[in-house]
Amino acid sequence: MSDSNARADVVIVGSGAGGVAAALPLVESGRRVVMLERGQPLPRDGSTLDVGRVVERGEFLAHEPWRDGDGRVFEPEEHFNVGGKTKWYGAALFRFDPAEFGADPGHGCPAWPISHEELAPFYAKAEALLGVHSFAVEPDLDWILARLRRVAARWHAAPMPMGLSAEIIRYPDEASHFDGFASARGLKGEAESRGLCRLSDRANFDLVTGVEVATFLGAPADPHRVIGVEATDGRRWQADRVVLAAGALHSPRLLARYLDRSGLAASLPAADAVGRYLKLHALSAMVSFSWRPMRDVLRKTMVLTHPEFPHSTAQPLGFDADLIARLIPRAVPRAVARCLARRAYGFFLQTEDGSSPENRVMERAVAGGVERVMDYRLERSSAAAREHRRFVRAMRRAFLSAGMPTVTRRIAISGTAHACGTLAAGSDPRRSVVGADGRVHGLRGLYVADGSVLSRISRVNPALTIFAWGLRLGTLLAGHDGDGVGRAADANHEE
Ligand SMILES: Cc1cc2nc3c(=O)[nH]c(=O)nc-3n(C[C@H](O)[C@H](O)[C@H](O)COP(=O)(O)OP(=O)(O)OC[C@H]3O[C@@H](n4cnc5c(N)ncnc54)[C@H](O)[C@@H]3O)c2cc1C
Repeated sequence: MSDSNARADVVIVGSGAGGVAAALPLVESGRRVVMLERGQPLPRDGSTLDVGRVVERGEFLAHEPWRDGDGRVFEPEEHFNVGGKTKWYGAALFRFDPAEFGADPGHGCPAWPISHEELAPFYAKAEALLGVHSFAVEPDLDWILARLRRVAARWHAAPMPMGLSAEIIRYPDEASHFDGFASARGLKGEAESRGLCRLSDRANFDLVTGVEVATFLGAPADPHRVIGVEATDGRRWQADRVVLAAGALHSPRLLARYLDRSGLAASLPAADAVGRYLKLHALSAMVSFSWRPMRDVLRKTMVLTHPEFPHSTAQPLGFDADLIARLIPRAVPRAVARCLARRAYGFFLQTEDGSSPENRVMERAVAGGVERVMDYRLERSSAAAREHRRFVRAMRRAFLSAGMPTVTRRIAISGTAHACGTLAAGSDPRRSVVGADGRVHGLRGLYVADGSVLSRISRVNPALTIFAWGLRLGTLLAGHDGDGVGRAADANHEE
């Protein structure tokens, strides 16, 4: 099925959270699905747990040069491999709050085109698929929270929903290296271990790796109808429907390229929104120190919130002393940093950023090719920038009062772990790119399953919501009756 001009019912571009979630109901319904993935499967030899190879040398990162809004070159922390970024994620798998599906004009956030209730059944399916559960709080974090409660009672701690096998505790190399590492034993609930492995022996499913999709194919006399994809090596796949799931930095560039080449960029109302409204979360890493040696293993067991900061959460980092030492400023001698790190606990402080049209990803033609641009400034969402600064200050003050001094570091824009929003879902085609059914406004046959669609990123991590959206989209498409009903549904939605 990897031949030139091969046909499928559905071609899915990308094997991460959204792509795999969309594939599951489609394959189960008997649709013939081809998934095209740019990367290869990760090795299972333990190298993805090796701090030197993963963190120091960044051997598994994409290493793609991009430019920021000021023209400076940087490399976003992206991964091209089977399973996408879910192989590396920290597996904190939260549902968004129902209120986070509504608009929040004061914070610069639009509403979703669907409600929490519409997504709820798919949240439940995603949780079951990924094996989401909480772990008991470990002794050192329990000690920290008790001290915090004594001096700052308004901080609220709740169990973290985690997609990790309970077995992980038996493997110290995995239990202290899952946040930013890929499990060698399949102990993390992610797109490959919980999704692709269910599909691998299905006759109506093909995963083709090492294929970078370059653009879409339009029907000969009608570019509004997408009928397949073309890879960078010229291979083509034709399908009744194409599901875009290449991730929020990549999917909008594919769509923008198609709109430019087909001449639709000037006429399609949604074209101007493509790549805009990039959301990353305002992110800071905080390390807290005490006199007590910290021996917790998983660490990521409780999440902290505060009623004065409704768009923010603080989560422990799943980092052991070795990894925490790397967050301590370089000015501190390494031996001292390692000694401090043994008495330290790391936290990840995140605040939902607003949706600014100026925050965007795009491609620009330059001599000899194109350059990738990610123009993002948190200051364009002033309410979020303000809340994040106050949140970090309040957290540091509370920890200091509890006898634990802290250091913090803002995560630069290369920290694209949570990137989303660049093909935002909405009902207004001038302000959004896909509709409630996941179809690109004004086009037939093209749908989006990945984090690009998230109209809001919420105060928690996005992956469970991407899985839920993908499952919902796959279920909607599976309900379409092949060429007949599906096409009719597409035609009914034509704008
Ligand atoms: C270190 C780290 C920690 C994280 N921790 C958490 C966490 O604890 N909780 C949480 O909810 N989220 C977390 N995330 C974020 C989460 O992993 C992402 O939100 C999620 O994986 C995004 O899903 P996606 O489908 O949009 O993209 P991805 O999962 O990245 O999948 C996109 C896929 O498309 C492929 N692709 C790209 N371009 C092309 C192309 N042109 N042709 C073919 N294939 C292509 C890529 O190789 C990739 O496999 C973390 C991410 C990282 C990196």
